[in-house]
Amino acid sequence: MTQAPPDLPLRALFDAQFHASRAQIEVPLTLRHDRLRRMRALIDAHGTELADAVQADFGVRSRQLTEVADFFVLRALLSDLKKHLAAWTRPQRVATPIYLQPARAHIQRQPLGVVGIIGPWNYPLQLTLGPAATALAAGNRVMLKPSELTPHTSALLATLLHQAFAADELCVVQGGADVAHDFASLPFDHLFFTGSTAVGRKVAAAAAANLTPTTLELGGKSPCIIDPSCDLASAALKIAHGKLLNAGQTCIAPDYLLLPSGREAEFEQAFAGAVARLFPTIAGNPDYAAILSDRHHARLQAMLSEAQAQGARVAEIVPQVQAGAPIAASGRQMNPTLVFNTQPGLRLLKEEIFGPILPVLTYDRLDDAIGVINAGPRPLALYWFGSDSAARERVLQQTVSGGVTVNDTLMHIAHENLPFGGVGESGWGAYHGETGFLRFTLQKPVLLQSRFAMGSLFYPPYGARFDQVMGLLKRWL
Ligand code: NAD
Repeated sequence: MTQAPPDLPLRALFDAQFHASRAQIEVPLTLRHDRLRRMRALIDAHGTELADAVQADFGVRSRQLTEVADFFVLRALLSDLKKHLAAWTRPQRVATPIYLQPARAHIQRQPLGVVGIIGPWNYPLQLTLGPAATALAAGNRVMLKPSELTPHTSALLATLLHQAFAADELCVVQGGADVAHDFASLPFDHLFFTGSTAVGRKVAAAAAANLTPTTLELGGKSPCIIDPSCDLASAALKIAHGKLLNAGQTCIAPDYLLLPSGREAEFEQAFAGAVARLFPTIAGNPDYAAILSDRHHARLQAMLSEAQAQGARVAEIVPQVQAGAPIAASGRQMNPTLVFNTQPGLRLLKEEIFGPILPVLTYDRLDDAIGVINAGPRPLALYWFGSDSAARERVLQQTVSGGVTVNDTLMHIAHENLPFGGVGESGWGAYHGETGFLRFTLQKPVLLQSRFAMGSLFYPPYGARFDQVMGLLKRWL
C-alpha cells in the first residue's frame, strides 16, 4: 500500500482516525496481523537507512548500537505479539459467583479507538514503533509524534510509515513543543507518552481536559546499590555497560551508585577496567555514542563544574591507547566520569543525569542506603548487586521503584513477561507483553443472564423470603 504522507492539519488527521475507529469497532485478527507484518517488513527492509538516520542525529552512534537497543527489542516485541495475539484477543471466560449462577460471564477485549503516542529522542525507533505496534495489535488507530531532536530519524520514519500504512491507520505528526502541545490536547482514547517528568506533567494536564487516560513513561534517578557481599569486578562491568550504553542517555541507566564506605578506590579501579574492556578508545569510537546536542553536552559539563567547585572529586576515565598516551574524548563524545565526595544539593544529585556521569555515594548501614532512596521521588529502576539474599530481600521490600534487576543492569526491560513502567514521578501505567496489549485494550465485562436466574429473590418488597435468602447467603460469604 502506498499512501501520500498526510499533509492534513492535525485535527483533520485525528478526525479521520476517529471516524475510521468508530466505523470499524471490531478489528479482525487478520488485519491486526497484517499491520504487524507491515511494521516488521519496514524494519527489515529499511533497518540500515533508519540506523544511519539515528547516527546522523547523534553524530556518533554505531549501527550495531541501534541494532541491539532498537531493532532487537522491536523484533522481540513483534514476534511476541504475533505469537500471543489470538489468545490475547479472544474473550476471557471468568468464574461466576454462586449468587449469580447460572449466569455466565466473560471479559470482551476491544480496541480503545485512537491512540496518541509521543516519543523521546534517546531510542527513537524502539520507543515510538514499540508502543505503536502494541497499540495496532490491540486493534487501535495510531497517531505518532516522534521527537523533533532526532530530525533525520523522525522524517524517515514518517516517510516509511506513510508508505506502509493508510493515514487513518497510522500517521506521523512532526514538530516541536508547540505541535506536541496541540497533539497532546487532542481527545484521544488513550495517550501514551515517553519522555521527561517535566513534560509528562504538561501531557497529563492537557489530556485531563479531555478525560483522556494516559500512560506516562518518564525518567528519574535510578539507584544502584552495591552490597558488601558483592564481587566488585563483575558488578563494575555490568554497571559500566548499563551506564554507558548510548553514553548514559537511557531512561533506566543507573543514575547514582550507593557503595559501602571504604571501597571507593576498589570500585574506581574496577570501573576503569570495565570501561577499558568495553571501550578501548572513546574519541571516534562509534560504539560509544555522542551526547545528542551541544545543549545537552553543556548541561552535563555544567553539572560536573558545579560538583568540582563544591569540592567533589571528579574522576574522568580516560582509556589508555596502545602507546600508553591517554586520548580524551572529542566533540560531543564525553568520557565516562565518576564523581566522589559529593555535597548534598548538587544538580548531579537532584536532576536525572542522562549522560556518562556516575556519582558515587557511600553508606555504612543498609538502612542509610535505603533511606537515601526513599527520601527522593520513586525511581524508574533500581539495581542491587550482591550475594546476601537477606539484604537483597530487605531492599526489595523496603523500596518502591518501577522495576528491578538484581546482579545486572537494564535487563528487566528486555523480559517481555515483565510489565515495564514507572511509579510516582517516574510515570504511571506499564507496557510490554500482555500488559502492553491490555494497556491499549478495553476490558469490557459482559454478563449473560440465564432464564433460570434467581435475581428476583433480591427484589422488593423485602419480606420473610428475602430475609431467609440473605440469612443463607451470610453463611457462604
Ligand atoms: P522530553 O520530555 O523533552 O520530550 C519527549 C517528547 O515530548 C518529544 O517528542 C517532545 O516533542 C514532546 N513534548 C515537548 N513538549 C511537549 C508538550 N508541552 N506537550 C506534549 N509533548 C511535548 O524528553 P526527551 O528529552 O525526548 O527524552 C528524555 C527523557 O525521557 C528522560 O527523562 C528519560 O528518562 C525519559 N525516557 C523515559 C523512558 C521510559 O520508558 N520511561 C524511555 C526513554 C526516555
